[in-house]
Amino acid sequence: MSNNNGQKLAGKVAVVTGGSRGIGAAIAKRLAADGASVAITYAKDASAASAVVKAIERDGGKAIAIQADAADVEAVKGAVEKTVAIFGRRDVLVNNAGTAIPKTFETTTLEEMDRVIDINVRGAMASTQAALKHMKNGGRIIMTGSAVGERVSTPGLVAYAATKGAVKVFAQALCREVGSRGITVNNVQPGPIDTDLNPAAGDWAVSQKAATALDRYGRVDEVAALVAFVAGPESSYITGANLAVDGGMNA
Ligand code: NDP
Repeated sequence: MSNNNGQKLAGKVAVVTGGSRGIGAAIAKRLAADGASVAITYAKDASAASAVVKAIERDGGKAIAIQADAADVEAVKGAVEKTVAIFGRRDVLVNNAGTAIPKTFETTTLEEMDRVIDINVRGAMASTQAALKHMKNGGRIIMTGSAVGERVSTPGLVAYAATKGAVKVFAQALCREVGSRGITVNNVQPGPIDTDLNPAAGDWAVSQKAATALDRYGRVDEVAALVAFVAGPESSYITGANLAVDGGMNA
């Protein structure tokens, strides 16, 4: 195992939506290293998903990959049911699948807005609803929100930022309904993280890097470390929180 931290998630089952690449892949690998059996979902890239599963298995962990477009509610529900059927339970849900279509608001079509809303908000709500049916006391629901869900320093992200604001309040509101079951709901807000969606190289990266206090992009494993903490037993009194991992972008 790559993390010698006492297997804090031993015996737990986690689902990471959008777990085949980028931040989600790092979260899946980290939760598996902490002892969880992990199901990842993906939309298109089956080979990337299978590479994540193989990497986890190589390190002695358990993982499966399920194709389920976050915009397809039936597929999302099916992914939850399949995970429970294979691994027998459901403890952690990380709603990480997300996308952005960067362009000015006035040039964004309604279809593009629908796509971003369907994946980032409706998909997260649908998978959460399906997961809650099976979730036991001590369950964890974690959103990959965004620093722009709170403050927006660059143009071109209007619809995306609105969805991440929605996800933030979704987590805050939901924690009130499931707290009596010992289930926590939290929103992790990454700043600029080097992935296919937001590469650290190129013109678009310059202003984002400059907006951080640490003057650099973050790494996927830096987000995964926070998610692993929130997924684990030591975060038991944290719920409804917006947890920044943004290099000081929103400070
Ligand atoms: P990537 O584009 O690098 O990876 C996205 C992952 O999500 C892939 O595994 C992809 O699989 C999957 N995915 C994409 N669309 C869907 C869909 N419709 N249904 C299911 N899975 C899907 O993105 P990041 O890792 O950068 O982003 C992950 C999350 O983090 C997103 O919610 C994003 O908004 C958020 N975030 C990212 C930041 C950044 O700077 N990178 C900053 C703040 C938040 P496939 O290839 O098969 O489609």
